[in-house]
Amino acid sequence: MRIVLLGTGIPQFSLKRLETSLAFVLGDEVVLMDCGYGAMLQMVRAGLQPTAVTHIFFTHHHYDHNADYAHFVLATWRMRRQHRLQVYGPSGTEALSRALFEGAYAMDIRARQALDNPLTLPDIALDPHDLAEGAVVEGQGWRVRAADVEHQPVPHALAYRLEADGRAVVFSGDTRPCEAVIRLARGADLLIHEAFYPVERSKANDYHCPPEDVGRVAAAAGVPRVVLTHLQRESREEQLIADVRRHFAGEVIVGQDLMVLEP
Ligand SMILES: [Zn+2]
Ligand SMILES: [Zn+2]
Repeated sequence: MRIVLLGTGIPQFSLKRLETSLAFVLGDEVVLMDCGYGAMLQMVRAGLQPTAVTHIFFTHHHYDHNADYAHFVLATWRMRRQHRLQVYGPSGTEALSRALFEGAYAMDIRARQALDNPLTLPDIALDPHDLAEGAVVEGQGWRVRAADVEHQPVPHALAYRLEADGRAVVFSGDTRPCEAVIRLARGADLLIHEAFYPVERSKANDYHCPPEDVGRVAAAAGVPRVVLTHLQRESREEQLIADVRRHFAGEVIVGQDLMVLEP
């Protein structure tokens, strides 16, 4: 298993850190987790074929996690993707997909279908699924389990545990420090967790996880390594590491766009 951090930023737009997206290369299949702005661009920069993506898992539907969704689906369709794309996420994933592809982009899709290019699939070949807490999805030699996390007022947000090649990786998505991530990450080899410094008078402080608490979560889960993502532009690497290490004795890695991880 190989993981490429495509985007490690937040909505505060930055060329250094694009929005959240991670690619898991699992044999012949590529699984995307989140598809924020820049996901497709970064895949190409990382030397990955966008048409190789077989599954997308959304953690939640803030735009910094799904802004490239429509573009990704439509562009890979025109790039002659030959399989149906399986899309999973919290409740709202099916409704979002209908609104985009049966609503906003329906006219474009019909216009392109009218050109009748024999090398592209006749429709956009997409199967969206809403996942409930505890749901399991299996691919070729890998499985993903979903757990509800705490990102209110977002009505539903998920973390994922992906297991392949005898290794387990957990991605927190966006959440305040929560027990569900600790439970999901027990026995995992790697925890990829959001880390967000409180901002003065911002309500976002209530639904994100300060670096110090990432250390507490990682220690409680007993993972050996934690990778920080969803980072503010002004976060300094040494400070992030020091704050996580207050409570966590394992390895701390500050995620960077296009960083490759081998758990
Ligand atoms: Zn976010
Ligand atoms: Zn969010």
